[in-house]
Amino acid sequence: MATRPIALVVHGHFYQPPRENPWSDELETEPSASPFHDWNARIHAECYRANAYVRIHDRAGHISSIENNYSRMSFNFGPTLARWIERNDPRAHERLLRADADQRHRLGVGGAMAQAYAHPIVPLATPADRRTQLLWGLSDFRRRFGRAAAGLWLPETAADEHTLATLIDLGVRYTILAPEQIAAVRAPGTHHEAGARSEINDGWTLVDRDSVDTGRAYRWMHPDGSGRFLSVAVFDGPLSRQVAFGETTHDAAAFVAAIRASGARSKVDAPPLVLCASDGELFGHHRKFADMNLAFTAFVEGPKHRIDPTNLAAYLEAHPATWEMRLALGPDGKGTAWSCGHGVGRWFRDCGCSMMPPERGWNQHWRAPLRAALDCLQSAAADFFEDAGAHLLVDPWGARDAYGEVVDAPIAERDALLATFGTPALAAGGERARESARLLLEMQRATLLMYASCGFYFDDIAGLETALVIRLAAYAADLLKDAGGTPPLDEMLDLLATAKSNQVSGETGADVFRQVAGDRISPARAVATVALAKVASPDGAAEVASPGGVVAIADQVVESRAEHASVSGMATVTSARTGTVNDVRFHATWDKDAGFRCVADGVTIAPEQLGREDRRRLLPLLLARLVEQGAPLSSARLALTLGRGVLGTGDEAVDAPLRDAYAQLLLRGLDGGAHAALVGAADLATELMDVAGSALALGTLARARAEEHLAEILATEAGRASLGRLAARLGFAPPPGTKSAPAA
Ligand SMILES: [Zn+2]
Repeated sequence: MATRPIALVVHGHFYQPPRENPWSDELETEPSASPFHDWNARIHAECYRANAYVRIHDRAGHISSIENNYSRMSFNFGPTLARWIERNDPRAHERLLRADADQRHRLGVGGAMAQAYAHPIVPLATPADRRTQLLWGLSDFRRRFGRAAAGLWLPETAADEHTLATLIDLGVRYTILAPEQIAAVRAPGTHHEAGARSEINDGWTLVDRDSVDTGRAYRWMHPDGSGRFLSVAVFDGPLSRQVAFGETTHDAAAFVAAIRASGARSKVDAPPLVLCASDGELFGHHRKFADMNLAFTAFVEGPKHRIDPTNLAAYLEAHPATWEMRLALGPDGKGTAWSCGHGVGRWFRDCGCSMMPPERGWNQHWRAPLRAALDCLQSAAADFFEDAGAHLLVDPWGARDAYGEVVDAPIAERDALLATFGTPALAAGGERARESARLLLEMQRATLLMYASCGFYFDDIAGLETALVIRLAAYAADLLKDAGGTPPLDEMLDLLATAKSNQVSGETGADVFRQVAGDRISPARAVATVALAKVASPDGAAEVASPGGVVAIADQVVESRAEHASVSGMATVTSARTGTVNDVRFHATWDKDAGFRCVADGVTIAPEQLGREDRRRLLPLLLARLVEQGAPLSSARLALTLGRGVLGTGDEAVDAPLRDAYAQLLLRGLDGGAHAALVGAADLATELMDVAGSALALGTLARARAEEHLAEILATEAGRASLGRLAARLGFAPPPGTKSAPAA
């Protein structure tokens, strides 16, 4: 058979959950992503950016061109990820926009698709949330790409009839579904009245994932009988699975063969559509070099085999959908999705879907109480929003829908939009009323974000992605409280306490909630960070920025002697995200024996209680003071506590001076022969040596001093008994009659 042309659409769904600490809106270091700062940065380098700059090599191995994969793909970037890329790599973000523009130039229509805002499972959302999540996704797209979105990617392709009908209502023209989500199809002209739902047997053919012909797009008719419809492109199951799990992405010839096999399965007369859809991270992150192979296939090999890369909008213009389809409704009519064989069970119950093999004996009973806890907060927040919002906003839900236009804009723009919905009370209420309105909307934003589906997708309540959504819930509860409401914390914690982790630690969702709430940056904590930096510096002048806001200090009083210092005064904290302003009185102290303390807003905060990110900011200043003036033993102990989880993340420029400080603390503790502070504190001494690491390498001055101090200590009985292990690690011969310890 002669090769017939194929319309190839490769869709990449690119997405990351909101990884920012919600209280600061900044990404914290994720040590598991080392040597990168965090997972976004790592996957960006391996995938998002890599696909924007793909090398095409010639046979001699030279770079013949650098291409933008996105300009040949159908793609969607989740708003939370696109926002991160825009903030962190504007040039790569620009390449995404240009890819869409290139396609408009080449094909007449763009290839970028929108996505529901926070990657929720849309069928599980309330009707109001469904609308807002879709609208905010469309707003984000319009703002970014400068055009209205024609297509929208449903997270996990999760759909029920309400979802698809809302898409039509919002002006979306097409989406992508999995073959198993199509229940029945019918050819044009085999029925009397388009869209009339009663005619179940009128020309319909039942299909399943193997029998549905994915070589054409289908119409899904709006149930209101208006004749409006959504075009649905169905991805090719075998091809997409091969890309996801097989070797296809490594080998251009195999990719071409798989595309041809897919085309051959279709019975359509026109050039068949071959739609391959997968998580975009497959291209370069999950599968190394898949980015290059995709480019090679799309740009070089494909056209030789009459494979014509296009996008869905262009395909639909050339081949409008004429056949109709019915949606598989899933158990209890709750909907279906591409990554769960049990409707949308994966996102609210222990349906059996998980990453780990069943023989490990894990379960996902935790999903139901987690969903219930989020729903409980969502419902309380919605009630409060409606009541309190009605005082300030003419149409609170309408205002929330519109807020998507400005959600990441500066506060003045957000306020201006809310003013267009304002009641006389908002207009007359000044800054206080504006702040209240803004807080209400920010609370709603948080409740939308906490439904990111990855919180439910994986295996355990204590996993990273689940902790992210629980942290967003804790943040949303804080905002509800700030706005004057009462978050249902007891009820939530009771529910979460029944969500049990599979890990040996046996923690529950309630434990996770309490842990992630430790990331909270209260106004007191923001001020404490700034004040502790000041009290650590000799003249109280050090400036450390507090994450997520601006701390302005007035009336500062500094008292400083070598062994004691204090800084006190009044500070104003302005939150960057919500714009709320808090006045905080503070008194920070340093004492050579007691260490650092700050009383802010009546709360005593010690730096060792602060989160890793704050300690990272403070550590260089605090260590300097400890090395200069601290009591050797207590300083060593405090320094080690402060450094926990902060060092060793791969950034030597930051780590090296810190290691030097630990080496100095070791030297101070070893100075003084039999009376040296570290005599009797062997564990502390070896821990200091471990943390100092390369700062105590052979040949360094610090190492020489450490050996010399230790020689004096070893001259005493007590010294030998206490610091023998350290001595062995520093290269001293073992005392006569002992076995030599293996060198570390
Ligand atoms: Zn499932």
